[in-house]
Parts: sequence; structure tokens; C-alpha cells
Amino acid sequence: MAEHFHEDSVAAVAVRIDVEHPDGLIFDPHQPQLRVTDLGAVRGDGVFETMYAVEGRVRKIEAHLERLARSADILDISIPPAQSWRAAVELGFEEYRTRGALPDELTIKLVATRGVEGEPASDDPAFAGTYWALLSPVTEAMRATRGQPVGVTLLDRGYDSTAAERAPWLLLGAKSLSYAVNMASLRWARQHGFDDVIYTTSDGQVLEGPTSTVLIVTRGANGARRLTTPVLETGILPGTTQGAIFTAAEKAGWELGYGPLTPQDLLDADHLFLASSVRLVSPVARLDDAELAVDDELTAELIDLLAEDLPVNHPLD
Ligand code: PLP
Repeated sequence: MAEHFHEDSVAAVAVRIDVEHPDGLIFDPHQPQLRVTDLGAVRGDGVFETMYAVEGRVRKIEAHLERLARSADILDISIPPAQSWRAAVELGFEEYRTRGALPDELTIKLVATRGVEGEPASDDPAFAGTYWALLSPVTEAMRATRGQPVGVTLLDRGYDSTAAERAPWLLLGAKSLSYAVNMASLRWARQHGFDDVIYTTSDGQVLEGPTSTVLIVTRGANGARRLTTPVLETGILPGTTQGAIFTAAEKAGWELGYGPLTPQDLLDADHLFLASSVRLVSPVARLDDAELAVDDELTAELIDLLAEDLPVNHPLD
């Protein structure tokens, strides 16, 4: 199959899921695939996940598939069963092996859109939309920045901490395809000399990054190390990386906490981190004008906790 592919597409493997191919079908990501009327493209009306695989094993796949289903539920989009997504990813791995070698580290994006308005792709609601998985090797550039300190600016997300509860139509807490705002805030940060962003609510609570979860490390009264992350009720995404770190850290004797956190809490913490599936963990060395302490050993320790790939439990579950 590989010889029919555009030569630049060798690095990426794409698999679509439809009613005739519930276990996936390989396609060339460099050839047009999407109808121009697909609601995912014209309205960002869809959901996605970005997963990380090491040596053919997807980290915390269960948590990603659960979150994909949860996001789809919030948007009222029906998606194929978890088994289809798992099979599609396996087919992608197999395609790499057929082409020569499975890369050590892959980013795997799962996408589900509402499909074309008024023209369901199938009568079976589980396959009525548009669904695909895109596998691509983790780049050298991405690997080089892993665990490296970042400068972060706090930006107002424009709603208060009760919006998620008051206004479910805002789809807060769903990983929808409408990430233009997230990308715009990252561009804003870069134009102003920062690497990344932490959003705050209009009433002064810490939310999350545009593509990451916030973690702080403090020492409890008894000297025990404590990891704290913002409460999910503010409408942030339940981070699978944060969840996996928490499970492993608890086993290793850390205390865990879910705070309403304020910017002052971030400044008062011993250390501040951003966590997400492919970057893993980045220590924050600067928060607006304030310099923060970075501890390379601690960063490495948190990254190592992820290698255990333990189940994720969120307080919302
Ligand atoms: N919050 C947002 C808004 C995200 O987009 C992401 C991931 O991209 C995260 C948090 C971190 O999630 P995870 O650790 O599951 O990758």
C-alpha cells in the first residue's frame, strides 16, 4: 500500500473509521479526505484527543478514550465504540511495521466530527459522523524541549469560575475541535516574550494552559511533598497526564490536593509545572514578572512517574 502514497506522507499514518471499516482503514493524509461541508471543518463541531505512544504502547489509552466519549457526550455527538479506536490505532502501528519500522515515540490524534449536516455517514448513530486517527512520530524538536523550563503569562479566559455550571452550552470541560482561542492565546504569549499561557477566570481563579494542566508542588506541615491541581468544577479539562502523575505520586507517598488555586498560590508554591500527554512535564521558570525556582531532579521524577502508566482517577468520575 505504501507505494501509492505521497512521498512526504511516509512519516504520518492516517486511519479512518466508518461503518464499513469499524476497525479502521489506512488512508493517505496528504490526499483530500474531508467533505468541505463537514461540520468539524466549518464549525469546529467535533472532539479530539492527543495521545502519546512509546514503543507501540499508548500511554493511558483508557483515560483518553473515556475523555473522548465524555467530550462527545457534552457536544451530543455519537462516536464509534472504544474498540474501534483501539483497533484503528493498532492498524496504524501495523502500517508503520509494514513500511519498515514503528517509531519509538508517536503522537496519536483521534478526531470525531459531527459529519455533514443532514447527511449522516451511516444510519448507525455510532458511525454517523467523521472519524479518524492520525499517527505521527514525535519530532526531535519536541523531544529537545521536554522537561525544559518555560516562561508563562497569566491570561484572562473571560469567564468566571461558575460559568461551567451556569452555562453548559459553553462546552467547558470538553476537548472540542474549537481550539482557535487556545492557539490565539499561545500566539499572544509568544508575541509578548513567553512560551506558554495559564488561564485565569474573571474572578481570579487559576484554570489551565491552552494545551496543558497546571500542577504545583508544595511542602505540607509535616514536610510531606504535596501536588495540587485546580478543581475540575471550573470547567477545565480533566488532564490525563495530571491524573497519571497523581496516581503514581500517591503510591510514592506524596500528598494530593485539588484546589481552587489563585495566581498567588502559584507564586507561593515551591514549584510550578505544566503537564500534558506529549510534552509530559515542563517546569515554569517565569510567571509574568516573577522568577520561579526550577528543580531538574524533581522534573525528571515527575516525568518518570508517567512511565508507570497507572490508571487515571478523576474526582468527577
Ligand atoms: N487542558 C487542555 C485545555 C488541553 O488541551 C490539554 C491537552 O492538550 C490538557 C489540559 C492536558 O491534557 P492531557 O494531560 O490529557 O494531555
